[in-house]
Amino acid sequence: MMQNNITPEMEDQMVEQAYQNLLNGYLSSNHRKKVEVIDKAFKFARDAHQGIRRRSGEPYIMHPIAVATIVNQEIGLGSTSISAALLHDVVEDTDYTVEDIEAQFGKKIARIVDGLTKISGGIFGDKASVQAENFRKLLLTMSEDVRVVLIKMADRLHNMRTLSSMPPNKQYKIAGETLYVYAPLAHRLGLYAIKTELEDLSFKYNHPSEYERIQGKIAASEEARNELFSRFSAPIRERLDNMGLKYEFTTRVKSCNSIWNKMQTKHIPFEEVYDLYAARIVFECDGMSEEDENDMCWKIYRQVTSIYIKHPDRVRDWITTPKVNKYRALHVTVMGPDGNWVEVQIRSRKMDDIAERGFAAHWKYKIGEGEEEAELITWLSTLTDLLKDPQPNAIDFLDTLKLNLFASEIVVFTPQGETITLPKDASVLDMAFTLHTDLGTHCLAGKVNHKLVPRSYKLRSGDQIEILTSKTQVPNADWEKYVVSPKGRTRLRAALRHQRRLVIDQGEKIFMDFLADNKVEFSNEVLSMVITRQDVTNKEELFYKIGNKEIKLNVDMVKKREPGNRFNWWRRNPFKGKEDVKQTTREASKAIDTKAIYRLTTQDGKSNYQIADCCHPIPGDDTVGFINDAGEVIVHKMDCPTLARLKASYGSRLVQTHWEDHRDKYLATVHIEGIDQKGILQSIVNIISTNMSINMKQMNVTADQGVFSCDLDVLISDASVVNNLCREIKKVKGVNSATRMS
Ligand code: MN
Repeated sequence: MMQNNITPEMEDQMVEQAYQNLLNGYLSSNHRKKVEVIDKAFKFARDAHQGIRRRSGEPYIMHPIAVATIVNQEIGLGSTSISAALLHDVVEDTDYTVEDIEAQFGKKIARIVDGLTKISGGIFGDKASVQAENFRKLLLTMSEDVRVVLIKMADRLHNMRTLSSMPPNKQYKIAGETLYVYAPLAHRLGLYAIKTELEDLSFKYNHPSEYERIQGKIAASEEARNELFSRFSAPIRERLDNMGLKYEFTTRVKSCNSIWNKMQTKHIPFEEVYDLYAARIVFECDGMSEEDENDMCWKIYRQVTSIYIKHPDRVRDWITTPKVNKYRALHVTVMGPDGNWVEVQIRSRKMDDIAERGFAAHWKYKIGEGEEEAELITWLSTLTDLLKDPQPNAIDFLDTLKLNLFASEIVVFTPQGETITLPKDASVLDMAFTLHTDLGTHCLAGKVNHKLVPRSYKLRSGDQIEILTSKTQVPNADWEKYVVSPKGRTRLRAALRHQRRLVIDQGEKIFMDFLADNKVEFSNEVLSMVITRQDVTNKEELFYKIGNKEIKLNVDMVKKREPGNRFNWWRRNPFKGKEDVKQTTREASKAIDTKAIYRLTTQDGKSNYQIADCCHPIPGDDTVGFINDAGEVIVHKMDCPTLARLKASYGSRLVQTHWEDHRDKYLATVHIEGIDQKGILQSIVNIISTNMSINMKQMNVTADQGVFSCDLDVLISDASVVNNLCREIKKVKGVNSATRMS
């Protein structure tokens, strides 16, 4: 806690001092000197946090200044990031909004501050570890600006450096989270020093007494170690100098955390950690071929091992077989003058560079395949270059640098700060359905970053979404256009089916009530009559249209009509009425059972029918037979105009027909859905034409937002073929579903 005898003036002076320190560091870097915006950000933040203190008792503004200092001096970023770092807690902790920041500092800084404000929530919640993976993804999908991630890292580093002022339970939690999320992330971003410090600080709070003990032992042995190193290195230096080599010979102590890890995994005391410190020889290699470099490593190796005894099991040859991450070096462990083992790493300058950028390959190793990875590596190596050498131009490059990693996914927030991963181009509706079916089905609109948007609104990574619902809202088939997430689609479809069922039930009730009101007794005959008259295919469709008010019932629809005044009636009613049909026809009719389906056969010329001259039906056409005055069956196409006239007058002479021996090529539509990927279409076509020899009539493919969907019309002989086809198509990589459409 701050002492009482510290005056406000002294505090102001302390703040001013810290700020000057930041500015001096910035001015001595090779960034462009844009002090004005930094100054403005400092004053804005100082006034905004006025009167607020950190837990340690110091004025709050000390924290943003420290973060900005890390951002500049340890990460190497320039004025935009420094300003954003100074402002990073303003929106979170004061009454100022992102809009205020934007008005004062422009879009770029406002967006970074916005990003920082958003990621400050979730991870500190109860589900920290569950969310860690999401959080990691989030950071990497914050495609808006990679600086958000870097500033967040600095923020965390400062919080860790000042963690001692937090109560122990919080210390423990924050330290765990740092170890679990931030340190690996820092590692992957190539922020090695920060990574090590985060690990060490986490270790310090997770295992305070071990930390103290190890630190004590390291400190106690420092002087002896230095003295030892110069004794150890002197004869080697002499040899290397004699070789005329330009090189650096350095040493560094392992971090507390890795020493402790070693003690744990090997079950050894501190004193037995032989690689407590490592020595590294990096030689200049201008003009050397890779082979020359390799040879040189071995030459140095021979010099070292001719002076000191090498540990028989501790030669690591990453020259002949480089590590997966392209790390190349020769490590040898030798016994030093004091009888302790010392690891010596031998690398060329070039190898050293590659080792420094090796994290890009770490990703490759961890993530797997795909194109994102190539982007990732490019991005990360760009980032490292940038961090190593913050040229003004390179920093400008950050502005245009969009992080396209995992471009197929976005990460968004609930109002509670929970992160949700959705496919790219997901809408408010996707979010609603992902959270809960009920939210989806009743979704009225959304609030994205507190602004009202339609439910079709496309989300972007980092958006915070609130779903607005209405009890009276029901899902609608149109919504399928806006829902891209598999979970959302499944839930929407289920909801649509459910909704349709409700409408059908309602329609059925309306229909039944209508019959009762009009004193018409319900029968299947009445039902099928109405179905035919309304040109719907089944009762579900009829009831649906009634329920949906697409069909309005009237008395004419449900009352039987006299035959002949309406086509189609013959289907159900071939014999009723029409007493005036000629006798010959009656007899002809008797000879042919008009109730039976009349089989048409083209075999052996034994035709028992005639093909109508007017419309010339061929096998496969929909046909109807008409019994002429001679008692012969004349086969017409169903839509033949002549037939239409005949039907009107001689309905009782119609017979149903069926092409007997025709290999019935009928049309089936298969609907295929999946994740778009290279070759998916080719694989499907192969199955259809090559593997199954099916006649493809039409194919309608859409690949939208990574979702592949295809309506396939095929000509087939029977339903089993189409079922087989669906089964085979489902085996294609990327295909989620293949179903026959009714
Ligand atoms: Mn902060």
